[in-house]
Amino acid sequence: PLVLGIESSCDETGVGIVRGTQLLANTVSSSMAEHVRFGGVIPEIASRAHLDAIVPTLNEALATAGVGLADIDAIAVTAGPGLAGALMVGVCAAKALALATGKPLYAVNHLVAHVGVGLLDSALGNRLPENLGALLVSGGHTEILRVRSLTEDVELLGATIDDAAGEAFDKIARILGLAYPGGPAIDRLARSGNPAAVAFPRGLTAPKYLGSREAPGPHRYDFSFSGLKTAVARRVEQDEAAGTEIPTADIAASFQEAVLDVVTAKAVLACQEQGIGTLLLGGGVAANSRLRELLAERTAAAGIELLVPATSLCTDNGAMVAALGAQLVQRGVQPSGLGFAPDSSLPVTTICL
Ligand code: ATP
Ligand code: MG
Ligand code: FE
Repeated sequence: PLVLGIESSCDETGVGIVRGTQLLANTVSSSMAEHVRFGGVIPEIASRAHLDAIVPTLNEALATAGVGLADIDAIAVTAGPGLAGALMVGVCAAKALALATGKPLYAVNHLVAHVGVGLLDSALGNRLPENLGALLVSGGHTEILRVRSLTEDVELLGATIDDAAGEAFDKIARILGLAYPGGPAIDRLARSGNPAAVAFPRGLTAPKYLGSREAPGPHRYDFSFSGLKTAVARRVEQDEAAGTEIPTADIAASFQEAVLDVVTAKAVLACQEQGIGTLLLGGGVAANSRLRELLAERTAAAGIELLVPATSLCTDNGAMVAALGAQLVQRGVQPSGLGFAPDSSLPVTTICL
């Protein structure tokens, strides 16, 4: 089926068009530049930017794919999780299109779409195995998922209890005086630093947290980065107070290693313990060079197959929403209708409203 997907959960306005697992267009407009002076995404600014960008982005995607709205078989849109006002813009646009064209509308889960995008990558063979693990790391998310079936069965194995991994990169970059977004800046700076220079804390890895998922409180697959953030801030304050030069490259490398050590170790642990043979990486932090290296090493050592889609597919985009929509159409899943509302905290178990 020819499916048009709309994404607006955070700062990217994305419209993608796919035919089954074939990618025809993936147009993304980001309001990132408008958030730079605030050091983070400001929801109200993001919502207004979506309003400005949605129609031009839609037109550009249609032109790139060389199709008209009449050719489309179905429309898919991110219903959540994400920023409420930002989600509302994409959802209203999708409902208007569905109403005007009479095409079925699917309101889908953003996180599951991050996994479904793997189907669009020809380098990965345009296929995904059943019983797939997923490690999603972005500015808003840090999650380990088990995907038994992309359209029917997705389970949350672990998640951050405070900051997301990308958010931690952005906050530490600010402390080190680097520009927003901090991820790419820290990635670059860390290459000239020593990752073993400072032993920063590894959140939720103490034996007391390695309990069962049934026990109350954080468990073995969960993440926490707020303690790490405090430790880095304290270290920089100490250097400042002592009047010594701050070894920014060493701190960046040591911080990055602390985040990625935990993220990769827990993803591999979850796969091993849950009998998962393939792990897919997604989210904006997937662009990180050290993450790719460390995860490749550790999955290989554990005999786990690693799937890393192209970076343009890992960051937020409309094609991932279209890809999941196409699977729902193919499986004969009932469309969502026009009566649904976006849900900023949509649980990952809800694949489609
Ligand atoms: P969502 O959480 O809904 O996916 P988002 O807009 O916060 O939305 P993305 O756009 O996927 O997430 O990713 C942006 C995040 O990725 C930022 O926090 C940024 O710092 C981080 N990031 C980008 N490149 C790198 C990198 N090379 N290393 C580490 N982090 C990176
Ligand atoms: Mg973004
Ligand atoms: Fe995302």
